[in-house]
Amino acid sequence: MKLDNIRIVLVHTSHPGNIGGVARAMKNMGIGKLYLVAPRQYPDEQANWRAASAGDVLDRAVVTQTLEEAIADCQFVVGTSARGRRIPWPLLDPRECAQRMGVASGHGEVAVIFGREDRGLTNDELKLCNLHLNIPTDDAYSSLNLAMAVQIVCYELRMLMVSSELPADEHQQWDTPFSSSENMERFYVHLEETLVDIEFLDPAAPRQLMSRLRRLYSRVRLDEMELNILRGILTQTRKWVAKARKP
Ligand code: SAH
Repeated sequence: MKLDNIRIVLVHTSHPGNIGGVARAMKNMGIGKLYLVAPRQYPDEQANWRAASAGDVLDRAVVTQTLEEAIADCQFVVGTSARGRRIPWPLLDPRECAQRMGVASGHGEVAVIFGREDRGLTNDELKLCNLHLNIPTDDAYSSLNLAMAVQIVCYELRMLMVSSELPADEHQQWDTPFSSSENMERFYVHLEETLVDIEFLDPAAPRQLMSRLRRLYSRVRLDEMELNILRGILTQTRKWVAKARKP
């Protein structure tokens, strides 16, 4: 387990004070990598003030314009959400999630994504994830303050690290690295184009087909070799479709 391979990603945060609070929550637990996707107001004095002695986490924070950039090189991505979504995704509590992230951090980069203070993460953002994390709360009020949600997740990661109770790693002897988020996104574009080409997917009525396929592949977790094989099949399929369509 490598805490250094785990990054916290904040999407469109409105209040700079929360960004500072997150930096502090992270540093207390020994997690140093912070990514800020298009923060509304940053840098800002309030962020520094709330960060207290975690100013170094803010200094090193990476600001990106899109979520895709912030997680491009990650092989395992967790999205956090205070409520259920239309298409159910594998959903775990912070303790269970920490175990999956802890194991994955031994192989490559891991991201945990946190949403906007007012609206959380969109369905499209949650679809970029391998699994979803929900912090159990009272039904009457399920939405935690952003920095407090980050604190709970980082605390569980720390507890796991000091407990030396990491679950067995079924991929310990794997021969190929798992695909990065960036390569998976390229694959989904390729897959969608091919499905439209063979008239399996109707762009006028796509329904939830691509979401379901995303969920399937993110559950399996493809390695780079498997991904290349699938892309080869797609390329060949499109070639034959083009041939068949020629008058
Ligand atoms: N109203 C929003 C909540 C936003 S709270 C919604 O319904 O989604 C801001 C962020 O804090 C969320 O996007 C999530 O990243 C995190 N968060 C807050 N409460 C949470 C909970 N109970 N479980 C998991 N994440 C939570």
